[in-house]
Amino acid sequence: MKNEQYMGVEVSPLSYDEITDQLKTRVQAGEQSTIIAVNPEKIMKAQEDATLRDLINGSTFQIPDGVGVLLASRLKGGQVRSRVTGVDMMDHLLKLSADQGYRVFFYGAKEEVVSKAIENIQAKYPAMQVAGYDNGYVQDQEALIEKIQGSKADVMFIALGSPKQELWIRENKDRLPVKVFQGVGGSFDVFAGHVKRAPAPFRKVGMEWFYRLATDPKRFKRQLALPKFLFKIVTKK
Ligand code: UDP
Repeated sequence: MKNEQYMGVEVSPLSYDEITDQLKTRVQAGEQSTIIAVNPEKIMKAQEDATLRDLINGSTFQIPDGVGVLLASRLKGGQVRSRVTGVDMMDHLLKLSADQGYRVFFYGAKEEVVSKAIENIQAKYPAMQVAGYDNGYVQDQEALIEKIQGSKADVMFIALGSPKQELWIRENKDRLPVKVFQGVGGSFDVFAGHVKRAPAPFRKVGMEWFYRLATDPKRFKRQLALPKFLFKIVTKK
């Protein structure tokens, strides 16, 4: 299935399982892959930020995180069938790693967040091998790179927020043995139980944004990207 493009930004129409299958094949072939989450906010930002657009379009998988991208695909007769969220993609990748014996490295978030996230993940997937971890505030980047090189990690999650994490991946991936990189934003906070996701009924009907807005009105400005984005999609020929 071919990627779709919204305002010059690529989006993958693949499901969790299709991406997971492709990742497995790519790891076997020794190919590196990068996964980036795409939402209306990022697509709007990419209109003025060519670096961000290139970061997204240069990734292997651009997952449709955010209901706005799903709606855009429906409006345009595209193939995106459901959201593929960063946190759920990470969960699928953790399961794949446990099943395949991939070693996983975690980088980002505060020390207590990343360590608690790993503890919870290990309880969920006891077979998963932790290659190592570091919090997202370490100063010595060279020491970090050596640590990752020595860890023989196959899969790496980077939680520094966007686009910091994507820039980090681009800058360092060529000197790391890691095969799969995913920038996961606030997902370590979710796995650590520090940030609650919207209750399942909200998530099921694609109204997670509404729950977030109601519980954290500061997000209003960020969420304005959604109607602006849909308006552009609908009015653009
Ligand atoms: N973070 C970090 N180092 C930094 C800046 C941020 O480790 O220099 C972490 C922060 O602790 C949090 C995550 O990155 O866990 C940012 O999550 P956020 O939800 O802001 O990212 P988004 O998904 O919105 O890009």
